[in-house]
Amino acid sequence: MGKTFDFEQGPIRPPNEARSFLLRITRNCPWNQCLFCPIYKNRKFSLRTVEEIKGDIRTARDIADDIKALSRKLGDQGRTTDQVIGRIFSGADYGTAYRSLATWLYYGTGACFLQDADNLVMKTADLVEVLAFLKEKFPEISRVTTYSRARTIVRKSVESLQKIREAGLNRIHVGLETGYDPLLKLVKKGVTGAQHIEAGQRVVEAGMELSEYVMPGLGGQSLWKEHAEATAKVLNQINPHFIRLRSLRVPERVPLHKMVEAGEFKMQTDDMLAEEVRVFIENLEGITSMVTSDHIMNLLEGVTGKLPGDKEKMLDVIKKYQELPDSERLIYRFGRRGGAYRSTDDLKNDPVTHEKINNLIEELKAKGGMQEVERTINEMVDQYV
Ligand code: SF4
Repeated sequence: MGKTFDFEQGPIRPPNEARSFLLRITRNCPWNQCLFCPIYKNRKFSLRTVEEIKGDIRTARDIADDIKALSRKLGDQGRTTDQVIGRIFSGADYGTAYRSLATWLYYGTGACFLQDADNLVMKTADLVEVLAFLKEKFPEISRVTTYSRARTIVRKSVESLQKIREAGLNRIHVGLETGYDPLLKLVKKGVTGAQHIEAGQRVVEAGMELSEYVMPGLGGQSLWKEHAEATAKVLNQINPHFIRLRSLRVPERVPLHKMVEAGEFKMQTDDMLAEEVRVFIENLEGITSMVTSDHIMNLLEGVTGKLPGDKEKMLDVIKKYQELPDSERLIYRFGRRGGAYRSTDDLKNDPVTHEKINNLIEELKAKGGMQEVERTINEMVDQYV
């Protein structure tokens, strides 16, 4: 048994790629300057060679075959069953690579996510070669996705992007964050709204699926409206397949934290964020994107739906929150940030949790007033960053 087999994995993947096979094809981020980004700071970008990546694909294949052999030995005919998963996760000699591949086989998503932050930085021919090899070794893969920066995408022609799609890349996730140029500059995103539009349109034209990440809260209290409106405007010109909301958080390790400390950047409160997202959704016009808020840092997960049909439904989710009495909004925020609530309906559906949260809030108020309540809420959200 090759239990010591291992291959390289990067630090992150999008939330919806939790059950994907993770294959690292570049290391870290070649830009690495965005003030709000906690991920690759102090890590140097490097390209991996095609041979190096192919080596990892071969190892991953060996591991997948090894897991199948283990399954047959256990009488499960090559399927990754609970028994197989149990054996791999309890055996100290099965490393991270075994565990992640076993999880992938168990869920059978057929999805592969290429790490890290900006893989279109690879030469088209190299990327095509890697994708072809991946397909050859893993014919069971049906969907390959990756992150890339808009500034990098605009360096590729539609023809190059088509070649990459034909080789197997189905979807690109792009961190749009905002479409408002002064804000893009302020947070050092290194890209303009016009480049975002150009990149997005090219990806769509090349026939790939496009997922654009928007960051509610990024404009702070002074630019929130411009941020919401300009971002919607940019997206209206791209019509990406997916628009994903991922709210801003500012832990100590991100450069923006210094600006918050110095009072130069004022974070949006949860109530302000709800209004900001309302303005954003309101301004999405003439597109057919799927909007999702599945990130744990978002206040209202229910702001999810397909445009244009679900627009009113999404606005209703926000309205319902905004119309709650102050005390209920606070209980919802506390429950949501603590991981107990997913929707404002949970306030009524679960009276026991409601009572518990209410008591906790009263205790915190007695200890240090509203400041202590807000401090606790912030602490709870930041555990997810
Ligand atoms: S481009 Fe993406 S990964 Fe790189 S610093 Fe900016 S947000 Fe972070």
